[in-house]
Amino acid sequence: MTSIIADQPQATKVEPGQLEPSLLATMPAALRGIGADEVLIARATQIVATGIVYDTWLTGVREQGNPRLLEITESLGLVVDYLATGRPLIPLITAAERVAPAAAPGHHPWCVAGACRPERFDDGEVLTEHHGPRYEADVTDGAETIQLWAELGSDENFIDGRAQVFMAAGKADGLAFHSDELDKVINELGEFVDGLRHLRRVMDQGRAA
Ligand SMILES: [Zn+2]
Repeated sequence: MTSIIADQPQATKVEPGQLEPSLLATMPAALRGIGADEVLIARATQIVATGIVYDTWLTGVREQGNPRLLEITESLGLVVDYLATGRPLIPLITAAERVAPAAAPGHHPWCVAGACRPERFDDGEVLTEHHGPRYEADVTDGAETIQLWAELGSDENFIDGRAQVFMAAGKADGLAFHSDELDKVINELGEFVDGLRHLRRVMDQGRAA
């Protein structure tokens, strides 16, 4: 059998920055050369194309620096590296499980140690107000500041003891969200931040002559 490279001389001429198109052309030819069937070739081609799109997306996310997306992409990048090098995924899974915290008796896994406030009643019953992580963002132009904060909590004194996220600007009256409502808030704020990124991208554009 002649070599695969000899069969496809053009596909092996890789110019700088031309690796991906070359890979897409070379890979099916290489698989055909070793007698792979068309179903496998089509699947492999699709996976390479997916990888190229993912790689481009990854570069875009890193350039934009969206921390929430970065967290996911960097984790996926780790898994991709493990697959590419043939290393077993078990150490990664073990590491992820170790990160998951254990809950103290009567508390949520997310309760901040020492932050929950138990209330003891005359009949001996103890009902606890649980406090979880709190995030703050100081939006400031140097002169004025809008302080946004959000905190996770639940209260056994409430009829509805489900966890809620409380959110407010500075000392203003806060809002409370269950998971469904919080999903809408996250979408809304996500679109707002995407809008800020758009404004940032275009703000240096001068007036047309
Ligand atoms: Zn608690």
